[in-house]
Amino acid sequence: MLMSMPALSTKLIQGLKQSLFPPACPLCSKPLENSAQGCCATCLQNIQVMPKNTCLSCGIPLDATLVPGPCGQCLKKTPPQQETYHLYQYKSPVREAILAWKLHGDDSALIWLLHAAEQQLQTIFSADDLLLPVPMPLYRMQRSGLHHSANLCQSIAAQVGCIMDWKILRRKGKDKRQSSLKGKARERNLRHSFTLAEDGISRVQSHNTQGKIWVVDDILTTGATLRHACAAARQIKRPIFAFSFARVLHNE
Ligand SMILES: [Zn+2]
Ligand SMILES: [Zn+2]
Repeated sequence: MLMSMPALSTKLIQGLKQSLFPPACPLCSKPLENSAQGCCATCLQNIQVMPKNTCLSCGIPLDATLVPGPCGQCLKKTPPQQETYHLYQYKSPVREAILAWKLHGDDSALIWLLHAAEQQLQTIFSADDLLLPVPMPLYRMQRSGLHHSANLCQSIAAQVGCIMDWKILRRKGKDKRQSSLKGKARERNLRHSFTLAEDGISRVQSHNTQGKIWVVDDILTTGATLRHACAAARQIKRPIFAFSFARVLHNE
């Protein structure tokens, strides 16, 4: 039987695509044997999502019998945010995806991971929510031309259909790079480094959203950055919710 022209050309195009651009794993770039899976079997096995049972207030993993918390830490000191969520654990290959994005501006693996988490994102956020990225110091934004948490918010907002505004939370002064500091020094460095923009409250009102207000960061290491940014956001006088794309789990 003769093949019709449209069918022939579709087949040809498929063949060309396969040989010119063979499907590769979006995370490790190795050739993909089963493209229906989205990423290679090794990456799929290594991606660690956050455990289901966590302390609702701060997001750390908890024993199922203790859910929703508060955990010991939150009992000692109530966090400024009402609830905290994360998508992934900061481990390979998620770590490499984040580093490719932050160090080389290649967000393809990050976007893939966001799309893979689509259902989870739809559960966490709603279209009526407002996302506030954890702000970067202005001098660093000017130097790199990038604002990672704002870019992350933009991608999430596009996926969920909500709003993001990077001008509501502000960073004060020229603080040291958080990644170069440890525990207590991070805490000291951050204590007074976030504030609400002068027009922060009117900006929130102008969005006219009745949903949740989220403070969003890319990586959560000790939780200090997110906590201090949430504390500043509390000046909005609405409950604040916290989200990070990935979290470092220290007990592993
Ligand atoms: Zn892979
Ligand atoms: Zn907790």
